[in-house]
Parts: sequence; structure tokens; C-alpha cells
Amino acid sequence: MTQHFNHIIVGAGLSGIDAAYHLNKAFPDSSYAVLEMRHALGGTWDLFRYPGVRSDSDMYTLGFRWKAWTGTKAIADGADIRAYLEEAAAENGIDEHILFHHKLLRADFDSNAARWRLTVQRTDTDETVELTCDFLMSTSGYYRYDEGFTPEFEGRDDFAGQIVHPQHWPEDLDYAGKRVVVIGSGATAVTLIPALANSGAGHVTMLQRTPTYIISQPETDPVAKKMLTTLPQRMASKMVRGRYLAMHIGFYEFCRKRPKEARFLLRKLLERQLPDDIKFDDHFQPPYDPWDQRLCLVPRGDLFKALRKHTVDVVTDHIDRFTEKGILLKSGQELEADIIVTATGLNLIAFGGAELAVDGETVNLPDTMAFKGMMLSGIPNFAFIVGYTNASWTLKADLVCQYVVRMLQHMRDTGQSVVVPRKDPSVGEEPFLDFAAGYVLRAVEQFPKQGSQEPWKLKMNYFRDRKVFAESVQHPALEYSNPPKHRASVAG
Ligand SMILES: Cc1cc2nc3c(=O)[nH]c(=O)nc-3n(C[C@H](O)[C@H](O)[C@H](O)COP(=O)(O)OP(=O)(O)OC[C@H]3O[C@@H](n4cnc5c(N)ncnc54)[C@H](O)[C@@H]3O)c2cc1C
Repeated sequence: MTQHFNHIIVGAGLSGIDAAYHLNKAFPDSSYAVLEMRHALGGTWDLFRYPGVRSDSDMYTLGFRWKAWTGTKAIADGADIRAYLEEAAAENGIDEHILFHHKLLRADFDSNAARWRLTVQRTDTDETVELTCDFLMSTSGYYRYDEGFTPEFEGRDDFAGQIVHPQHWPEDLDYAGKRVVVIGSGATAVTLIPALANSGAGHVTMLQRTPTYIISQPETDPVAKKMLTTLPQRMASKMVRGRYLAMHIGFYEFCRKRPKEARFLLRKLLERQLPDDIKFDDHFQPPYDPWDQRLCLVPRGDLFKALRKHTVDVVTDHIDRFTEKGILLKSGQELEADIIVTATGLNLIAFGGAELAVDGETVNLPDTMAFKGMMLSGIPNFAFIVGYTNASWTLKADLVCQYVVRMLQHMRDTGQSVVVPRKDPSVGEEPFLDFAAGYVLRAVEQFPKQGSQEPWKLKMNYFRDRKVFAESVQHPALEYSNPPKHRASVAG
């Protein structure tokens, strides 16, 4: 028998738990399920297990508004974030609604019945299950879980040592006393490198093609700590959250509006942490402006401490090929290694690879346009969460959840069963993610588009988005309806 739910959420990561909380709180009498293809909740924070894995945005805004992060560490370890998410799900009974080992393959909206028919694969038994729902939310993250991104390196098979991708870190990897070369300069590389050096690796080399902007931040914020330990909890959490929002979004806006001054400031902050033999211009000056790509954060300047101790060094060069002993660089230098870590990024994927269809017709995602970065033109009763790349993901997730709740309340109150955004043909098309990082550029063509103006344009600014998401759900771009056959079909 096909099981029916009012709401189905796809993915039990941070966004899925947030969506489940909001929908269940607003509609306690509605049925819901969270489909999760893996065996555990937490998404990113359960998958990534490399040494040192941590957030690189503060937990006061990465944590949920409805469950304050009370730790005094603003930057938290992966394990602590995982525990926080498990606790949030358990405290609200969300864990009981998660269908583990359920992978959404295809969702087909039946306009007559005003409901989704989902084809779901049981990843433990390989069985196919069919489910139906009235409203579908995709919270399946933005990258492939089965495979991280590794460029083709010539001679890969010649290398006598071990090659590891941080997304698939072997639990028993023994790197004690070994020479490790980490390829990459992004958030994962700058997290992993000092963690390896501080936990027994013989020597770690950071091998980068292009430098990234890096900024140090104290792990614990004394002002936040004082607020959290002296003020009533609700007030303290609100104030600390406000403080981080203002600091981060203010700094982002400063970087975008005054790139020259931002470059100068970032240089001054970083230069004084480098040892004399490592030159800023050689290794830490990116060729682009701050926040053209994600800015990396290092807590306590741990990467620079390791550089000063010479347990870590940095090489900026291009890879010619892998050799038996390590990596031959275009400059002719050979880096010898026992282990090579390819911190070369993610493979982006939309909606966890699930196919969407309306009345049997498969949707070509690039033909659709994202309404407020949360629904797709022409796709009824569907919303998704893709968070900010320049601020905590959760901030956007909360805005989307609140808007979805208001939309569904409006439908309930007016007796409508379908909502669909309709594209305005006069709005120009732009790429969905306006972000120059390699992993984005590699995949953006497979994603829906965004528009050239609001409400089709994503702003990547929480304060502006707050206003955009506070608008009425009776938006001219949203079409509400009630198909004539709907009631009969629901009854049947
Ligand atoms: C290493 C790393 C560090 C990061 N650090 C930060 C940070 O500090 N701050 C920040 O704001 N963001 C950070 N991000 C972005 C991060 O992904 C978000 O913070 C957040 O965890 C995303 O939550 P999510 O629930 O939307 O997606 P995910 O965490 O990716 O969870 C998606 C879930 O959906 C499931 N799923 C996917 N496809 C399907 C399917 N077809 N059927 C069923 N289930 C499916 C997955 O198994 C997973 O459990 C980081 C990302 C990475 C990779």
C-alpha cells in the first residue's frame, strides 16, 4: 500500500531538521516524514570525519533559532555539531519521523490529485517504495555524498603511497610520523593541515595552485562568553546571535563594497602571523577579490602557528604528475609523500540527484527559475533549502521554513491545495549560484536559474532577505488553485 503524508522532507541534515521543526510546530495535526538515504542524521556533520573537522561559521548563527547554541566555543567541532543536531531532533520527536535508508529517486506531481508520488529506493534492501505527499521539501544539501571531487592527476596509479579524499576519510588511517601532502587551499585544507600536524603527522605540506583569503578568529569569543554566563539565557542567545550577524554580514558587505581596503586589511592581519621565510605575496595573495570565493577562517591562527613551528610548509605551484614517490610540480620540484590528501572539493548536485516531474513530464532544471531561492517556477507544492555561502546556512533555512509555513497556512485558510510560482518572461536569467569557486562553476549549468531581479534574484544578504521573506505570501508570482478533481482524488 502506498503511504501518504501531508509533508515529506528529503534529507535529515541541518536543513531537514529545521524544516521538520517548523512544519510540525505550525501543523501539529499534519503527518510528515523525513526521508534520509543514509543510516544517520546530521548530513554534512555526520559524513565528514577528517581530523579537525569543524564549522567555519559561528555556531550562534549556524545553530537553530529555536535551540540556542549555549557552548562558549563559537567555532565547533564536527562531533559537537552532530551531537547538537541529534539532540535537537530527539527533543522535538523529529527522530521518530525519519525514514532512514530511504533515497528519493523521482517525484512526480499529479495535478489532478494535487499530490506528489515519490519513487524511493531502500538503500539497505534495494527495494523500491512508493509514497505520496501533498507538499514536498527538498533539504538534500548541495553536493554528492558518494563521491568528492578529485581532478584527473596523471600518474595517479604510479604513486606508491596512499591517496585519501577528506570526504571519505578512512577511520583507521595511520599518518603518525608520515609525510603528508594536502592538495588544496580551501576550508577543508586549512582545517585539516594544522590538525594533522598537531596530531602526530611527520610533516605536512600544503600544496596549492591558487591562494585563498584566510582570516584568523579566536575560537572563544570573550564578549559572547560574558553575555552567555551573566545574562538570562534567552536574552544572551539573542544578543550573541545579533552580534555575530552584524559582524559577519557587515564584514562581507565591507569586502564587496571596498575590495581594495578589504585586501589591505586582510593582508595586514595575515602578514604578521607568517614566519620570515614565508612570503605573503608568494603564497597568500589570491588573484581575486575577498568573497569572490568563500573566505577561510582559522581558529586561533592554528595554521600559522604550525607554519611558524615548521611542522607545516606551503608550496604554491601546479601539479605536473604523480610519481612513485610523490608529486612532480611544473617548476620541476618533487614533493615526496607517504600520503596524499586531495582536498580538492565537492561535486555539486541539485536535490540529491532526485528527478522531478509534473504530470509525467520530467523537469529540466535549467529551464526553471528559483522564486526567492526556495521554489521553482512551474513546479507546484515544492520548496527547497540552499543556504548562504557567505553566512551561516541556517539563516536562510529559517527564512525559507517560515515562508513555507505561512504559505501553507494561507492555503489551509483559503481552502487551496496547490501553489506554484509562475515565471515572469520579462525577467532575465542568471546562474543560480553567483559564486566563482571552481566547484560551483563546474556544475552550475545543471542547476535551475535565478532571475535578474527580485523575487527571482538571490541576494546572499540576510538582512535584505529578511525583508524579502517577510512579504505577503499572496505574491503576484505565486498562483494558488484547487483542481476540481482534488477532493475526489484525496477521498479516493
Ligand atoms: C566540510 C564542510 C564544512 C561546512 N561548514 C559550514 C559552516 O561552517 N557553516 C555553514 O553555514 N555551512 C557550512 N557548510 C555547508 C553545509 O553543508 C551546511 O552548513 C549544512 O550542513 C547543510 O545542511 P543541509 O541539511 O542543507 O545539507 P546536508 O548537510 O548536505 O544534508 C543533506 C542530507 O540529505 C540526504 N540526502 C541527499 N540526497 C538525498 C536523497 N535523494 N534522498 C534522501 N536523502 C538524501 C543526505 O544523506 C544528508 O543527510 C559546510 C559544508 C562542508 C562540506
